[in-house]
Amino acid sequence: MSKAARPKDALSKIRNIGIIAHIDAGKTTLTERILYYSGRIHRMGEVHEGTATMDFMPEEQERGITIGSACTTCEWDGHTINLIDTPGHVDFTIEVERSLRVLDGAVGVFCAVGGVEPQSETVWRQSEKYDVPKIVFINKMDRIGADFEAVLESMKERLRITPLVLQVPVGAGDEFEGVIDVIGMRFLVFDAASRGEDFEARALSPEQEELASQWREALFDVLSEQSDEILELYMNGEDIPRELLDVTIRKATLERTLVPVLAGSALKNTGIQPVLDAVCAYLPGPQDVPGQKGRNVHGVKIETVCDPKEPLEALVFKVSLETGHKLVLLRVYSGTLEAGQMVYNASQKKDERAAHLYTLHADRKTKIEQAVAGEIVAVAGLKFAKTGDTLSAKDAPVQLENIESYRPVISLALEPR
Ligand code: GDP
Repeated sequence: MSKAARPKDALSKIRNIGIIAHIDAGKTTLTERILYYSGRIHRMGEVHEGTATMDFMPEEQERGITIGSACTTCEWDGHTINLIDTPGHVDFTIEVERSLRVLDGAVGVFCAVGGVEPQSETVWRQSEKYDVPKIVFINKMDRIGADFEAVLESMKERLRITPLVLQVPVGAGDEFEGVIDVIGMRFLVFDAASRGEDFEARALSPEQEELASQWREALFDVLSEQSDEILELYMNGEDIPRELLDVTIRKATLERTLVPVLAGSALKNTGIQPVLDAVCAYLPGPQDVPGQKGRNVHGVKIETVCDPKEPLEALVFKVSLETGHKLVLLRVYSGTLEAGQMVYNASQKKDERAAHLYTLHADRKTKIEQAVAGEIVAVAGLKFAKTGDTLSAKDAPVQLENIESYRPVISLALEPR
């Protein structure tokens, strides 16, 4: 696609997100379901069989846990969602840090039975360090012992956040039936077999209506603190436009004062579409987050600007050897990278060629001609690039902050070329 053909607001439709969770909370299953619903895959691999799409490295398939940080792309509601797989195992903390560095937002997944476990706390805190706005999906509502409110309490206590409950589950364990959409006051019953229009919205029974009203009041109380306009409409008993609610929720999510919470069961395909909708509605696009810091050739501090017309600045966050070929995953922060372009690897002080560009699905890749600021792509042909390296325009070399020693200011200054 040429630069001119790209709509101006296309960047605002990119979501670079990760799913962060304690191991076993259902991250892989949720990822599978997201890919299924968004139409990328038409069969669902089950994790325990070692066929889940994101677990594509042979080593991972053998071990049955996710150890790598892969990236896969899907489309939803006019948005391109790049899902960066973030390892949940505490042994892979550095991998988590690397992925967090290139994320703009994340979905935190908690098990409805286990709640916020120590490792979830660790990953959550790491994500806070990188100022990553988040939404939460309380998973496994179908498990015996699932307790939605207990998880909310543990979120408040252990993570010190204000949850904004957008959905409440109806029933739990064997009796889990679906979720109530608190804003829309609808009972959503999900059909595991369908895709796209995946739920049937039913009217609420009197008991459900009462339950929903309580949560709705709680929601408006919280949102009234965020917006005077909502406060006034709410106090006067007037209708609050959905758009105003969404804008307010999005702002509070980006500022990390509130964390929208959804519930469901990834295994039973319940609540997946609302997660995708919330990712698009409330999590940031690449232009909504601060730029990356670095230094130019004169040692002068710079900050990346998410604009395709700026000089190229990109960061390598993963190198994989796929069937013996080196494939480099990078995030473009500024400018445009063209297939075949010579770039300057500021970290290795070498010129190298980005011969081929791809968007990645976990088990296949699609060739593209260029990648613009805000995008995450795979590159073949880079000889020297290592994880953490900065690639920049040949005529405007830049060194972004190193991943491993992420600090507000870097000490590395580039030598003039
Ligand atoms: P990860 O380690 O976070 O990637 O978790 P997985 O997606 O591998 O899930 C761990 C286990 O929990 C697997 O056996 C899944 O089948 C199971 N699981 C995932 N989601 C759900 C759910 O919503 N309900 C139930 N009952 N089990 C689930």
